Amino acid sequence: MAEEKPIIWKGDAQCPLCKTDFKVENVWLNRVKFQEVYTDLAKKYEGVNPMVYEVWVCPNCFYAAYKKEVFLDTSDLNEKLFKKLEPVRKKLGSALATDVARTPDMGILAIKLALVTLQARKGVSAAKFASYFYKIAWIYRSLGEKDLELKYMQMALHRYEDAYEKEMEPQIGKMGETGLVFTMGELHRRTGDDQKAQEYFMKVITNKEMQGDPKFLKYCRDMLSGIKEGEPPEFWK
Ligand SMILES: [Zn+2]
Repeated sequence: MAEEKPIIWKGDAQCPLCKTDFKVENVWLNRVKFQEVYTDLAKKYEGVNPMVYEVWVCPNCFYAAYKKEVFLDTSDLNEKLFKKLEPVRKKLGSALATDVARTPDMGILAIKLALVTLQARKGVSAAKFASYFYKIAWIYRSLGEKDLELKYMQMALHRYEDAYEKEMEPQIGKMGETGLVFTMGELHRRTGDDQKAQEYFMKVITNKEMQGDPKFLKYCRDMLSGIKEGEPPEFWK
């Protein structure tokens, strides 16, 4: 039998702020395996969960951000505010061992540190904060930590709703408005408000003006029929 190829490889990184050199773990995404896709599109991974490795953390100043492009880009950083947040970074960072293999708990800590960086960036959409909270919730889901998953899904939901109601152009990437509204519906359903979930799913179906990936239309129909029948469909987990 052929030897299993490694999924993680070590690379070099340099902090764009304090110039500290350090090692980072990267994941060969084409070697990652998953067992299923949840209804909110998170994946249930088998073995390595790539979400745990996505944030790079400088071991010296605890500047943290999603790898490569975002990590290297400090053009939108309010350095005064970043400096002010140093005690928060140190408190979080002191619990993060950067010289050993990353665990899911460390992955969560790294995303929390990336949130501290995000606070010091200018013009960040509430939807961006939401997506970080949602990733933390997903990692807690993979650990079976239901209460913490719920807590972070609620935080994600509030931020997504803020972005949707108050921002002209929330930073939501490729999912578009249909994806955002579907996501808010799913978050309401998963945090226990079926009524509100139905309103969002219905909105995607009935609003012909809504822009975004049409696959979300199908997801919304599936979720609505599941709620109406009172019986979750097979895939509904
Ligand atoms: Zn640094």
